[in-house]
Amino acid sequence: MTTFPLPPGSTIGVLGGGQLGRMLAQAAARLGFDVAILTPDEDSPASRVAAHIIVAEYDDPAALKALAAVAQVVTTEFENVPAAALRALAEAGVPVAPSAAALAAAQDRVTEKSFLNGVGVGTVPFAAADDAEAVKAAAAEFGAPVLLKTRRDGYDGKGQAWVEHATDASAAEAFAAIGGKPAIVEGRADFVRELSVIAARGRDGEIAVYPLAENHHENGVLRRTSAPAKVSAKLREQAERIAAQILSGLDYVGVIGVELFELKDGRLLVNEIAPRVHNTGHWTQDGCEVDQFEQHIRAVAGWPLGPTHALAHVEMVNLLGEEVLAWAKLAAEPETRVHLYGKREVKAGRKMGHVNRLRPL
Ligand code: AMP
Repeated sequence: MTTFPLPPGSTIGVLGGGQLGRMLAQAAARLGFDVAILTPDEDSPASRVAAHIIVAEYDDPAALKALAAVAQVVTTEFENVPAAALRALAEAGVPVAPSAAALAAAQDRVTEKSFLNGVGVGTVPFAAADDAEAVKAAAAEFGAPVLLKTRRDGYDGKGQAWVEHATDASAAEAFAAIGGKPAIVEGRADFVRELSVIAARGRDGEIAVYPLAENHHENGVLRRTSAPAKVSAKLREQAERIAAQILSGLDYVGVIGVELFELKDGRLLVNEIAPRVHNTGHWTQDGCEVDQFEQHIRAVAGWPLGPTHALAHVEMVNLLGEEVLAWAKLAAEPETRVHLYGKREVKAGRKMGHVNRLRPL
């Protein structure tokens, strides 16, 4: 039986072995915990800093049993873990945070936006579409261009296509481009900036929100984040309210990333939620006393949440592909903190690490 707060010396299970799992394991170690990683990857970034490694598919019953035997609580670094795997762990008596229901809410873009609207959070207009005919109808309703996305398994701008006109040809072309999969049609957000907010909810319902971050994407992939973003008190309060509505609505435990569109009229719409630590929160590692990784570990372990205010201004830049080869030059910059993920193979566009460049607030 797990009791909270979880004492140091306990083991925290993590589903997923990527860089987020690696940085969670590092934060957990700092608080005296061991980490057990379950990943299908033979040689993952997280495995090399973990106390226990289970290499298997996420829904492998024997692997889930082995994880339940070693871990006192289980969390995830990857939102596309089958919700059934989390349910199996919960049934085996291991507390799981975030819950299977919270993960499921974020796994399907239609369910996600319906949930958001249901708790009073604004999104672009959207419609589910299972064929080109429905795509065309939604494009006519919302006004082209509209964005077509696969309902599930999309990330870093993959599985997305613009529908330029509300015509049969445009709709068919976009639907074919995303592989003819069940889709969502989204009205175009006419945003002035992309922002995000990282927030946490503890086991007792306490909520802590980090300052807003401003994000810049290239080809659908996060290029850089600047934080704290320059925002009015009104905008900050709006973001904090949105984060609280989402966290409470999901009865969430842990850290969540919320991607926002800032509209000209000052309204914030939610693009998507990530039920995990988030790339746009990496700035907190060097900009805050307690970063998003430690905050997540504190939340799932039932510890008090830490402070979230900024101590420095941070420009976070992702190191994609061969950019990581500049590590020696970057390490020589006094204002730059280098974070590398230990990935053995450099591939074009692959997230290999990031840097946080600091300047005084
Ligand atoms: P996503 O995979 O949903 O995070 O989308 C990736 C990027 O595409 C976002 O960061 C935006 O730059 C852009 N994008 C997504 N949805 C919309 C939308 N409805 N309208 C305009 N741009 C969008």
